[in-house]
Amino acid sequence: MAERDILICWPVSRSGSMVPGSLTSKCSKCGEPVWLSPSSLLLLHDTPGMDIQCVECGRKQMISQPGEVRRPTPAQLDEIREYLKGAGR
Ligand SMILES: [Zn+2]
Repeated sequence: MAERDILICWPVSRSGSMVPGSLTSKCSKCGEPVWLSPSSLLLLHDTPGMDIQCVECGRKQMISQPGEVRRPTPAQLDEIREYLKGAGR
């Protein structure tokens, strides 16, 4: 079976981590509503068929089936930097 890429998303129920311009989607495992940041949308567009999972399900999957963890894309790093800047205010 081909390995599917997993896009790990932050659950909507956890506050304080939404990137402006994000859309919501659902975890494919538990159905938890999650944020899809603009960089994640870009990644989904470039990589069709990615599995969207919340951080909890993504973590469990990584423990049960360790695979290659991709480095964040430049767009994702920009969002993280913006978030950290905002958090310091
Ligand atoms: Zn989940």
